[in-house]
Amino acid sequence: THCLYVVATPIGNRGDISLRAWYTLSLMDAIACEDTRNSANLLQSLGLHKPLVAVHEHNEHSQTPLLVARLQAGERIACISDAGTPGISDPGAHLVAAVRAAGLRIIPLPGACAAVTALSASGVPAGTAHAQGFVFAGFLPSKGRERLTALQAWIAQAQAAQHNLVIYEAPHRMADLARQLADLPPLTLTLARELSKQFEHLHTLPSHDLAAWLAEDAQRLRGEFALVLHPSPVRAATADAGDLDEATRHTLTVLLDEGL
Ligand code: SAM
Repeated sequence: THCLYVVATPIGNRGDISLRAWYTLSLMDAIACEDTRNSANLLQSLGLHKPLVAVHEHNEHSQTPLLVARLQAGERIACISDAGTPGISDPGAHLVAAVRAAGLRIIPLPGACAAVTALSASGVPAGTAHAQGFVFAGFLPSKGRERLTALQAWIAQAQAAQHNLVIYEAPHRMADLARQLADLPPLTLTLARELSKQFEHLHTLPSHDLAAWLAEDAQRLRGEFALVLHPSPVRAATADAGDLDEATRHTLTVLLDEGL
């Protein structure tokens, strides 16, 4: 049957390509990718040489019908992105939707994803009633106010459900993100930097300390970052009343009056 293989590739360490991904890619007639130079490097390191077709946000509307037609004609085609899982803060969704709409099959090959890798390294409690869930925000908007509003909304959503919140951020916006976090209620966060690469680093700290921590060493701002913001339980005993909104302060006062 005609199908599109959606293949996850490494987010750093090239050894993270799966045997199935390697074998599948080796059987393809063509590979749709984001950046042909980047993917040619990856394929070369895997000992593979395949015709590449660039499909990115600027040409996906013209390229997609051509790829669907090629699949219908019986060609074997896979789709990859620059790193990790296609469609996760990466192109892929448009092509996948078109292929499915054409009645063709999608075969996804699971593999590396920075969000899931960061979560697995952050000590997310597994199996507890609330905290096992997570919310994936991906990249925030790049501009100031819009960004702060989005950050606030994602945090509120995750907090309401007591879920972890995963954010992707470009290195040149990390300092900005740290400043914005300092303006919001304090949370605990895990910073996952350069996962599966030489300078991999994991650090858990209070969100309000991030700006100072990053400023301590210029190296800390280099590389790729995924952040996990952990839901913190309401700590009535230690909460600074100044941080609480009116309704919460009222509730706490009533509880204290009742001796609770
Ligand atoms: N499709 C990818 C995935 O499955 O995770 C995400 C691609 S997105 C364009 C790139 C962002 O993912 C980076 O800016 C960073 O936030 C995160 N990321 C990718 N690789 C990473 C790594 N090795 N360590 C930490 N974060 C990473």
